[in-house]
Amino acid sequence: MTSPHPFSEYVFSAQEGFDEAATRAAFAHAIPLKTLVIYCLDPRVTEIPHAVARFMGGQTYPGEVITNEHGQRVGSTTEVATVAVAAGRAIDALRSVTVLEHLFGVETVVVVHHSNCGATSYSAHGIVDAFRKENGADISAAYDHGSVCIDDFEASLAYDVALLRRSPGVPMHADILGLFYNTDTGELTEVVRDAGTPR
Ligand SMILES: [Zn+2]
Repeated sequence: MTSPHPFSEYVFSAQEGFDEAATRAAFAHAIPLKTLVIYCLDPRVTEIPHAVARFMGGQTYPGEVITNEHGQRVGSTTEVATVAVAAGRAIDALRSVTVLEHLFGVETVVVVHHSNCGATSYSAHGIVDAFRKENGADISAAYDHGSVCIDDFEASLAYDVALLRRSPGVPMHADILGLFYNTDTGELTEVVRDAGTPR
């Protein structure tokens, strides 16, 4: 298959003789992924994936990029993938969990919420009211209210672990953990664990 589009040489599925199943199998070998970490994009907590890698028994993170004989970047030794979203709420990460499961396999999904997160500074109705006043926009039905802010860490972690477990795009065999991270000390505390169903 040839394409007039200038970037098509960089598209796996646009290559001649493309085999979707074989390409997927090659991906699964390219990165030995075990754990997906969903955490907050707050610049104070960029160490969370490192802490989770240690918490998981010393998994490799960030690892090293693997290059082939042509110098192309074809893989990585990392065992931990990351999704950074506001407050580390699971709702924003569902599609990423599904995609990474499909391409690399995921054994454990870890949700991390952290102390003094910005999402503990406002309420669900407060953000709706502010958007109406400041932007003339009604976001009252735009987002799941239970996922908008954090007012109780045990509740927010339990909510997100349950949300992931309910999602059809999260494999039943995956363990799902909810961890609290102390922003100042870097300490991780396990709050919720939902063990996966063996395949
Ligand atoms: Zn945060």
